[in-house]
Amino acid sequence: MSTQTLSPTSSGKLPATTEAAVLHGAGDLRIEHKSLSQLGPHDVLVEMRSGGICGSDMHYFADGRNGTNILRQPTVLGHEGAGVVIAAGEESHLAPGTAVVIEPALPCGKCASCLSGRYNVCATGTCFGSPPTDGLFARHVVVPDVALHELPDSVPPEIGAAIEPLAVAVWAVERAQVQPGHRVLVTGAGPIGLLVAQVAAARGAAEIIVTDVNDDRLAAAARFGATRTINTATTALDISAMDRLIECSGNTRALADGILTLAPAARATVVGQAKPTVDGIPLGFLQRYEIDLVTAFRYAHAFPTAIELASSGKADLRSIITSTYPLSDAASALTAPVTNPTNLKVLITY
Ligand SMILES: [Zn+2]
Ligand SMILES: [Zn+2]
Repeated sequence: MSTQTLSPTSSGKLPATTEAAVLHGAGDLRIEHKSLSQLGPHDVLVEMRSGGICGSDMHYFADGRNGTNILRQPTVLGHEGAGVVIAAGEESHLAPGTAVVIEPALPCGKCASCLSGRYNVCATGTCFGSPPTDGLFARHVVVPDVALHELPDSVPPEIGAAIEPLAVAVWAVERAQVQPGHRVLVTGAGPIGLLVAQVAAARGAAEIIVTDVNDDRLAAAARFGATRTINTATTALDISAMDRLIECSGNTRALADGILTLAPAARATVVGQAKPTVDGIPLGFLQRYEIDLVTAFRYAHAFPTAIELASSGKADLRSIITSTYPLSDAASALTAPVTNPTNLKVLITY
């Protein structure tokens, strides 16, 4: 294959520039033309078809920062994305026309974490859409082919961006070591919690109890894998002897209360974004009953399983997609979950 093979869908000439949603500062998102870099031998040019809005994108848009990472120069947001290859470098194994989802983390590949397979905890890696690294809310993106996973026909690229949060859920359930027959408590019925419930069901969990403070979200959980839902704003958490807690809300109280429902020698996994330091965790209870407290960060080697679960229908990507916006209206997409809290995953459709 020669460099920059053209796809039949291309107009015959590769674009030199592309339209992108560039964040200049808090609340200052501009649709601009950006030049595209040359394809290296292992790079491909992806024409984007879907991009997912994540909490981190919303934080950058609202505050110009996410946790400790501060926006210091104009940056294209977005780390959840899927599209179609329209040109490929000469060494790339991906042919034009291939539908792909992008695994956005760009680990160093050389440190002990990367070499051991735990590339998600690489200390020096970057990630698409994590300032200052440009992200995926652009019509075209140049991506190294190692960051791409092929999508089967059953998972169209128009919804393929939702594979990324599903990979988060796959890794969370992996870290939680959910076994067949387990009773699992999932706290938080946002996109990640809803997908965690489905992945836990696919792993054979016997009982999946999902909590939240929003009835619409709990109704979605009941449709997709939860055997019981509890609104903790109005109802006491009257459960005990749970085998697994998977905390997906980022709420300290949910974590502390959830831990107290666990059986001896059970396991609690923190998935929702934690505060830097947290008071009120029942450490004595954890120790007395040898309950393991572990964390999950992004994912390692989880995309193939996520794609397989979506393809087989065991996880339903459409269960979390509640609205779509064109790239030209990316600013509305970035505030949609705030202006309408019943929104789960909002997609940009280009
Ligand atoms: Zn995300
Ligand atoms: Zn590394």
